[in-house]
Amino acid sequence: MTNQYVKKVLIVGGGISGLTAAIALKKAGIEAEIVEKEKEWNVYGVGIIQPPNALRALNEIGLADECIKQGTPYSGFDYYTGEGHFLYHGVSPTVEGYPGVNGISRRKLHYILLESVQKIKTKIHMGTTISTLKQVANGVSVELNSGTSQTYDLVIGADGSNSKVRELIVGSIDQQYSGQGVWRYTLSRPKDLENGIFYYGKKAKAGLVPMSDREMYLLVTTYEPGNPKLPADQLHVLLRERLAEFGGAIAEAAKQVTNANEVVYRPIFTHLIPSPWYRGNVLLVGDAAHGTAPHLGQGASIAIEDVIVLADILKHNLSISETLKAFMEKRFERCKLIVKNSDQLVEWELQTWNSEMKSDVNIGMYVKETLEKMNEPFLTELNLQ
Ligand SMILES: Cc1cc2nc3c(=O)[nH]c(=O)nc-3n(C[C@H](O)[C@H](O)[C@H](O)COP(=O)(O)OP(=O)(O)OC[C@H]3O[C@@H](n4cnc5c(N)ncnc54)[C@H](O)[C@@H]3O)c2cc1C
Repeated sequence: MTNQYVKKVLIVGGGISGLTAAIALKKAGIEAEIVEKEKEWNVYGVGIIQPPNALRALNEIGLADECIKQGTPYSGFDYYTGEGHFLYHGVSPTVEGYPGVNGISRRKLHYILLESVQKIKTKIHMGTTISTLKQVANGVSVELNSGTSQTYDLVIGADGSNSKVRELIVGSIDQQYSGQGVWRYTLSRPKDLENGIFYYGKKAKAGLVPMSDREMYLLVTTYEPGNPKLPADQLHVLLRERLAEFGGAIAEAAKQVTNANEVVYRPIFTHLIPSPWYRGNVLLVGDAAHGTAPHLGQGASIAIEDVIVLADILKHNLSISETLKAFMEKRFERCKLIVKNSDQLVEWELQTWNSEMKSDVNIGMYVKETLEKMNEPFLTELNLQ
């Protein structure tokens, strides 16, 4: 059914959620255009963990198989002590026949989505952002940095954790510094690395995450009190220092960390915008609405789910306010679960590294139960009363 209320959509941000939104909307018969502030695509080279709920959502736009083809599916993670003694294999919960984990390069994921957007001929205005948003009688009047103005039925803020759209509709927010930083570095995948692996160190957690048959990335989480400004040309040295306590495969990987420019370091900030994530005809999705610590590997998954759910609701031809209300009913608690449970995992990790962790906490079970919840249906019937 064509949507009589939403015919013209502006998507702000051409990242994972913005590109997915364009494809999903087109499938629902709705035209969109994208503004992306960068002049050229510059997606950093490390990988991303795709849990099965991400693949299930991507299958709604026909892209799950391509992600698996260009990525590398496996059943879960092998866990070790910091010194390198094997502890156990954690099988990740699966759904609808998708693998427990698909590792993929961020660049490959970006180009899978971008190619699909190009096929449907959605316009992407590079080097473009919004200057103002104004709710008017027939939609939202948007002024771009190019000076042009247009009115849209719906504006989707898919512009990431420092969202300009969010600032314009809800004002500035306090993002919580988690106390942790995440370090990543791309390496060749050894032939005998079957699954992802994680080593639990005394002061850090370090892993190797396959992202293709030939490549993997080193993924390291550390305590970084006060969010220090780290010298860019010393990142390789600083990362190796933080890996000094590790043995086994992580010690081998550490030897290959030789180039500061190849280290991708991110301090971890989190936020959850209280419901609702919309004002008038402007909606926030993905990291603009919910920025999570990466401990459950779910940030991009829930971003993708957001826009697949939105497109699904739009097929019902409801008014904008009914559409956005229904969207919040389906998305808020699910995304809150990920942000809060990831915050909890950060807290437990910091307690462990400070020798303050309680002995009765079962982290493995907590992660498993959270991931199982994410495998519950996400495209449920609408409650239209
Ligand atoms: C260290 C780390 C590891 C992670 N690992 C995983 C993982 O393994 N699995 C997983 O699922 N998730 C992971 N995530 C989370 C994941 O990267 C994000 O949740 C995901 O990228 C969110 O997508 P998005 O489209 O909402 O935002 P983004 O990917 O940030 O995209 C936003 C886009 O908007 C553009 N933009 C920004 N401002 C403007 C503006 N004013 N105007 C126009 N365009 C604008 C940006 O240039 C960008 O293209 C990780 C995050 C971190 C920090």
